[in-house]
Amino acid sequence: MSSVQSYVKCNQCGFSEASEVLDCGTNGWWVGCTRCGYQESWECKSRFSNGHLERGVNEVHYSAGALWAEDSKTRVATLRGLAENEIEEIAAKMREAIASGELSSRSYVTKFNFVTGEVTALVGQVPTRGLQTGE
Ligand SMILES: [Zn+2]
Repeated sequence: MSSVQSYVKCNQCGFSEASEVLDCGTNGWWVGCTRCGYQESWECKSRFSNGHLERGVNEVHYSAGALWAEDSKTRVATLRGLAENEIEEIAAKMREAIASGELSSRSYVTKFNFVTGEVTALVGQVPTRGLQTGE
């Protein structure tokens, strides 16, 4: 399965390096923002909705923040969007995991302010770059 990655502007926070990954096999795509946690995807599959045939399924996930958890040993990282009511609890757990050495100090939790559009870091630092391609 081959895919192409590029940067697009985030629909939620305006970050210019939200990652867009195109799947060349299915023509589906995924957008994820490392700053605010916004995610959007489009899947090429037909379905009936309200009597109409839709050619693709578009999913948009606005997010109250982003979680970047990087394993300190394997460097394997997970990006996830967060719900408003779980941010404080997850931030507290992440502080512990970083202090114990379980997670890398590059891990972070951010919070998105829907009123001002600002992204602030609760743990670590707000990323200035988008996802980097490994190759
Ligand atoms: Zn964003």
